Amino acid sequence: MGNFSRLSANPHSSAVSIQLENPHTLNAKPNRDLATVSQPTPMPSPPADEPETQIYEIKKGDTLSDIFESKGISASVLRQVLEADVEYLSLETLQPGKRVTFKYDRHRALEALVLRIDAARTITFARQDDSAFVARKQESETHWHSAITRGTINGSFYASAVKSGLGEAEVAHLLKNKIDFRRDLRSGDTFTVITGREMTHDSPTGRQRIEAVSLLRGPKTYNAFLFDDGNYYNETGESVLLAFLRWPTDKRFRISSPFSPDRLHPITGRRSPHNGVDLTTPVGTPIVSTGDGVVSRVGNHPFAGRYIDINHSGTFETRYLHLSKVLVKRGQRIKRGQKIALTGNSGRSTGPHLHFELHVDGQPVNPLTADIPTAAKVPDIELASFKAQVSKQLASMQSRISSDLVLATGSPQSTRTTEEDEGRQDIN
Ligand SMILES: [Zn+2]
Repeated sequence: MGNFSRLSANPHSSAVSIQLENPHTLNAKPNRDLATVSQPTPMPSPPADEPETQIYEIKKGDTLSDIFESKGISASVLRQVLEADVEYLSLETLQPGKRVTFKYDRHRALEALVLRIDAARTITFARQDDSAFVARKQESETHWHSAITRGTINGSFYASAVKSGLGEAEVAHLLKNKIDFRRDLRSGDTFTVITGREMTHDSPTGRQRIEAVSLLRGPKTYNAFLFDDGNYYNETGESVLLAFLRWPTDKRFRISSPFSPDRLHPITGRRSPHNGVDLTTPVGTPIVSTGDGVVSRVGNHPFAGRYIDINHSGTFETRYLHLSKVLVKRGQRIKRGQKIALTGNSGRSTGPHLHFELHVDGQPVNPLTADIPTAAKVPDIELASFKAQVSKQLASMQSRISSDLVLATGSPQSTRTTEEDEGRQDIN
């Protein structure tokens, strides 16, 4: 496993950063709406009195306070927007190329801020009253588009995977308990991978996932299949990744505030989503990661306090707020049950507690009730549908392997070479 700790230093080992930093997705659309747009009005009047919309594209090195200052928006309004972002933390890391839309009323007061996350998702911070904004996430319909990528190890795994169109982290993240990709794979070993790209209408959102992997290493085959609980299993339904713990603490604590899409806030008295559960933990209670993963963010937010985000195989993310002490670093690889922080009372908080979130495919869910893989195998009741999925995916992957074997034995019907058969091919 020594080589895997080195992988964690690679900034691309987090699926989240791959999604967010994909320049093709960020710049997928022309910047035609970057110009200032004024809404039509029947009466002619000075332009300064009109409601106005401005679109700003984030540049490298931008901070939110710089952008607000350059637009003449006060620090108190910035604070109100940050307060609304406490359940999303979406403004904490501004990705260059992303767009923020500022909407003003006729007195040029900020009425709404719209952050475009990807082609399918935006977060709108809308003015609620004189002293507050409220944040809501909007999502368009999305679907997954699958493709098969096949490659042969020739030299390093990294070079072979990149040549075939895959990222190292994408494959290495899988089967990590079975195979160390750098050490165990040898020249001539082959891998076939079904990858999914999330689409909205005809645009990729930038989200990707591994749907199935087959590794042919000498006489041995290693398979892993993504099932609809978000976990990976081999062909007999045994988990190839460690499952999740339900609780982020060794002991159980009282829930002082449950997960709720529309909660009456104990401090502000306003209705807003509560994207996690609050556990009444005394300051200094050890927090454990509920699954294997990589620390994707460590931050300090005026309302969320000290916090940690952990990315678990791209599909799952957990988040821990109001910490007193952080024991891990960004990019660090974490095991399930590993101590990552001590609880506290930092940020805005009515008293010592842990705010704990679980996101599935970017969507916050109730971490105490969500349907997550806590078992080591596919439940019996779902085994039939899992096996049906596996035989379909194996057939897709096998059809490519057998066509390669034909080529390798010098079939006269084909003039293609095996080299040309490597790479990516759509299957739906
Ligand atoms: Zn909370």
